[in-house]
Amino acid sequence: MKITIIGTGYVGLVTGACLAELGNNVFCLDVDQSKIDILNSGGIPIHEPGLEEVVARNRAAGRIKFSTDIAASVAHGDIQFIAVGTPPDEDGSADLQYVLAAARNIGKHMTGFKVIVDKSTVPVGTAERVAAALQSELTQRDVDASFSVVSNPEFLKEGAAVDDFMRPDRIVLGCDANSQGEMAKEKMKVLYAPFNRNHERIYWMDVRSAEFTKYAANAMLATRISFMNELANLADRVGVDIEAVRHGIGSDPRIGHSFLYAGCGYGGSCFPKDVQALERTAQDYGQDLLILHAVEAVNAKQKQVLGAKIKTRFGDDLTGKHFAIWGLAFKPNTDDMRAASSRVLLAELLHAGATVAVYDPVSMAEAKRVLALDFADAPELLAKITYASDAMDALDNADALAIVTEWKAFRSPDFDQVKLKLKQAIIFDGRNLFEPAAMTEIGLEYHGIGRSVLTRV
Ligand code: NAD
Repeated sequence: MKITIIGTGYVGLVTGACLAELGNNVFCLDVDQSKIDILNSGGIPIHEPGLEEVVARNRAAGRIKFSTDIAASVAHGDIQFIAVGTPPDEDGSADLQYVLAAARNIGKHMTGFKVIVDKSTVPVGTAERVAAALQSELTQRDVDASFSVVSNPEFLKEGAAVDDFMRPDRIVLGCDANSQGEMAKEKMKVLYAPFNRNHERIYWMDVRSAEFTKYAANAMLATRISFMNELANLADRVGVDIEAVRHGIGSDPRIGHSFLYAGCGYGGSCFPKDVQALERTAQDYGQDLLILHAVEAVNAKQKQVLGAKIKTRFGDDLTGKHFAIWGLAFKPNTDDMRAASSRVLLAELLHAGATVAVYDPVSMAEAKRVLALDFADAPELLAKITYASDAMDALDNADALAIVTEWKAFRSPDFDQVKLKLKQAIIFDGRNLFEPAAMTEIGLEYHGIGRSVLTRV
């Protein structure tokens, strides 16, 4: 099929590449010329395992192209995926300016029937706004062309995006119950047929319910994390190991093991903004989502938990102290630092007078870009950050190591070397990578999250 992807970011590029891999002819549009240039010169603008190979293979086969040409992109695809960003507006609601601009662009150029697919995460009612924006352009041009707007929220996870897209748990599709909606449904059925060979993965529903499903999923996952983080903080006070508790409750099939890890808070481009946007939707409809207020508040506090533990140990004034940070990305296998906990910890340490050496396996370039923005008004603080060439290099002369991202490469370090390099053998582990008892045996002072177990002798 001929597919257009509008917005060639994390979601758009993965969607385009994977649909091309299935034999479709894909046109990826972006307004960012530099991104398109990178792609057209054989590069990949993001770090995503396996993506480079899929893009290269399909480019060579002539099944995927990248361009900023809007008219050509509209002419190309019978199905037009909108996969642009929906960042939070000042009031927490999803900023739909990019989505609506994409819709208007389609309306400015289309001549025959098109299926418009909202793949961006958008609030309930957005499909109607997309349809209205597109229709107003058609009316202005006096063109009588029909279309249908489908909601197809994306559930891929950064760091495992290609696998998630190729082997989805579910494909949520919201279509209108009219003749255009039926035509759209048929096209979507054909497009997604390769994913349904083993068993049916499509959940058909009305458009509004599909839009809501994405927010409900992310809000649920964020709630599990904040719930465990709050319990972990209590565990620290009462002398309980939250990891033992995690196993104890996760074994109940009604609860399950996933997303029960205590840590130093969730980040990324999705959970924080989607929780906020759902709260905003609720307010617009006169309801207060009390649980989600708490989820957000707990998470904001949790991002400060490592800084608080470090200050409890070293005092509020960290002048003259030097810390190593392992992990900058908001989670492993990505270079994405949007809303990353590392940024909160860095600010806390630098403002308290410390110097910091940081290391991340893939996000060092992104870190330099993002931190220059974070500390644009405080170049004297920015100058206190050094970028280490590897994990061990970051430890030299540090008073302690703080671990913020659970990269696999950090899971089994050479602890003798760690001890040797650190000025003080202290680890603040924001992702509970290690066993406290094993750390004590090795001779490391260990501070996890919710792991201050009191042992009776
Ligand atoms: P992104 O910022 O990586 O990519 C968006 C791209 O859209 C950018 O390259 C931007 O230049 C481009 N763009 C903006 N306006 C455009 C226009 N009018 N025409 C063409 N291109 C335009 O964003 P992302 O992380 O891919 O997220 C996209 C959407 O998918 C968001 O709504 C997000 O919430 C949702 N989502 C993201 C993830 C994720 O893990 N990143 C997962 C599921 C859903």
